[in-house]
Amino acid sequence: MRTPFIAANWKMNLDRAAVGAFCRALRAFAGDAARPACRLGVFPPFVYLPQVVEALAGSGVAVGAQTCHAAPEGAFTGEVSARMLVELDVEAVVLGHSERRQHFGETDEALARKLPAALAAGLQPILCIGESEEARDAGQTEAVLERQLQADLSAVEPGALAGLVVAYEPIWAIGTGRTATADQAQEACAFVRDVLRERGVEADAARVLYGGSVKPGNAAELMAQADIDGALVGGASLDPEEFAAIVEAAG
Ligand code: PEP
Repeated sequence: MRTPFIAANWKMNLDRAAVGAFCRALRAFAGDAARPACRLGVFPPFVYLPQVVEALAGSGVAVGAQTCHAAPEGAFTGEVSARMLVELDVEAVVLGHSERRQHFGETDEALARKLPAALAAGLQPILCIGESEEARDAGQTEAVLERQLQADLSAVEPGALAGLVVAYEPIWAIGTGRTATADQAQEACAFVRDVLRERGVEADAARVLYGGSVKPGNAAELMAQADIDGALVGGASLDPEEFAAIVEAAG
C-alpha cells in the first residue's frame, strides 16, 4: 500500500510573510488527526528553505528544494548543492521540472548526474518527466517518457532507487488549467511504473505522482486511479486552503 504524497511546488512565488502564514496553516492542518493519511511536502524557493524547515519542524511535512547542482561544491555561480540542502535539514528535491528543462536548458544528461548526487547526499528526489503537446498529438507520449526515464536514471543502480518518486507532468497541463483526463494520467503513470519495473526497480514501492493543473475539483478522480500515488501541485498550492482541499480529496 503506497501512502499518497501531495507536494506543493511554490515555484518563484510567495514572500516571507505569506510563507510564514502558509506554514502556520499547514502545521495546524498536518497535525489534525482527522486528516487523511497522506505524506505532505512543500518545495519553496531556496531563500525560504531555512524559514520553512524551522516553521515545520516536527510536523512530519517534508521540505524540499526545487532543484540542485550535481557537484558538492565548486565554481558554479548561482547554484546550490545537494550537500548544502541537507545541511539545512532539507529532505527532498524536485529534479527535472519541465520549467527547468524549458527555460534553463536542463538536459537529461545533467539529470543523470544530479539524481545520484541527490541520493548520495541523502535527499529524496522527485523526478519530473512529461511530454509536450506536439509529442502527445504525434502519439509519442510513451516514447518520450521512456527516453527521459532511462536517461535520467542511467547512472543509478536499480537497487538504490527504492522509494523513488516520479512525477508524470504533461507539459501541456502545467499552469494551463488544462488537466489530463483521469484515464490519460492513469495510462501514463502505469506506463512509468512498467518502465521502472523493467529497469529492475521495485516498482510497487515507487510512487508515481501526477502533476498538471491539479485542483480541489479534480484531485479526487485523479487520485482514485490505481497507479497515481499523489500529486505535484503548482498554482493551487499557493493558497493553504486550496492545498488542504486537495489533500482532503486525495484521502
Ligand atoms: C507544477 O508546477 O509542477 C505544476 C503541476 O503546476 P500547476 O499545478 O500550476 O499546473
